[in-house]
Amino acid sequence: MAESIKAPRGVRDILPDESWKWAYVLTMARKVAEDFGYQEVHLPIFEQTELFCRGIGDTTDVVEKEMYTFEDRGNRSLTLRPEATASMVRAYLEHGMNKDARQPAKLWCAGPMFRYERPQKGRYRQFWQLDFEAIGVQDPLVDVEIIHLSLELYRRLGMTNLEVVINSVGCPACRPKYREALQNFLEPLLPDLCETCQGRYDRNPLRILDCKRPECKEKTEGAPSIFDSLCEECREHFDTVRQGLETIGARYTLDKRLVRGLDYYTKTAYEVLSGDLGAQNAVCGGGRYDHLAEAIGGPFVPGVGFAAGVERIVLTMEQQGCSLGEPPRVDVTVIPLDPSLRVEAMGLLASLRKAGIAASMDYAGKTMKSQLKVASQEGIRGVCILGGDEAAQGVGGVKNLRTGEQENVPLREIPSYLAKMLRE
Ligand code: AMP
Repeated sequence: MAESIKAPRGVRDILPDESWKWAYVLTMARKVAEDFGYQEVHLPIFEQTELFCRGIGDTTDVVEKEMYTFEDRGNRSLTLRPEATASMVRAYLEHGMNKDARQPAKLWCAGPMFRYERPQKGRYRQFWQLDFEAIGVQDPLVDVEIIHLSLELYRRLGMTNLEVVINSVGCPACRPKYREALQNFLEPLLPDLCETCQGRYDRNPLRILDCKRPECKEKTEGAPSIFDSLCEECREHFDTVRQGLETIGARYTLDKRLVRGLDYYTKTAYEVLSGDLGAQNAVCGGGRYDHLAEAIGGPFVPGVGFAAGVERIVLTMEQQGCSLGEPPRVDVTVIPLDPSLRVEAMGLLASLRKAGIAASMDYAGKTMKSQLKVASQEGIRGVCILGGDEAAQGVGGVKNLRTGEQENVPLREIPSYLAKMLRE
């Protein structure tokens, strides 16, 4: 026998015992989006590689090590999207949304992202993100709205034990001065830092602060923070964000080391951390990206947004015992007593479904006893029994599994009879 094929490393099948939980989270996200005035878009799963190189930054981990890049049959370099912000801004520009009177454009999408990362609990090579973006204005209150939106989603999902960490990562006006100060601080430490950090010293020294190795973390502990070198404009922006967060009652911690993994961030950067997730504890991350549009060949278009990992939301909710709704189930099962009545049962099933009643029947030749057992295990509420004599007289037995009552009902009236029974 040929060797059986398994899914690639780092990807997961979301099976029926879990998919209903995802549907719950997505439905909630859609509702929160509507309540905050965000409109849904569907974006392509692959883009030109250049979009991510220029948008996210050539020296980021995502672009350097984690992209699924391939050539198509026309020799174009394409990449499975590692995140959605660059695509969202591309779509905004490509469709001239910057010319709309209403700014910012408030958009959201949900879907799979792809990164070649080392798989572990809460970290996969294909994972889903909810992505919310407000593109087109610089107002710091939009940053507040974005952070609020993520927290409101988590509140409605019943998630607790979350920590909001925020920072300002400055702008092209204040970063060069900071970069220099940071390089001066790092230079004597370089021989003791890991190879990756050493490689980043010239190209992107800010990212050294994001190194996860304990030795590097310890060595760079006393590094100057961008926060302390912010220009007047960035400082004012950040102060308004903080005031806004305080006004809406959002508690946060200022983390002057927070730089995030993507280069496009300017000013506000934030993450929401779950106290119940272990190493991969960020349930969302985001911030402002005022120069992303220019980096991908557009005009100056500021923006702010966040992306939340669906797997990590579901993991946190399970860990915390949050309600995730209920798995979908059918309400009614149709049981023909004799194989000769199976086709007729199919007709009854069709009329039930037409009446909007969720119904099913057995196709595997189970006995009536085991069909009834399955029905009560699955929480089915009504059973339609088609017996030879009754069927010949045009009636079927309808049993209410909650009360145990059974009644003969004319076949044509069964859908309305059941609809009434299910409403009770
Ligand atoms: P990022 O796009 O890196 O800012 O990540 C935003 C959010 O996506 C994170 O806070 C996680 O919740 C989620 N996330 C990022 N990478 C992964 C991954 N490899 N597996 C699962 N979730 C992820």
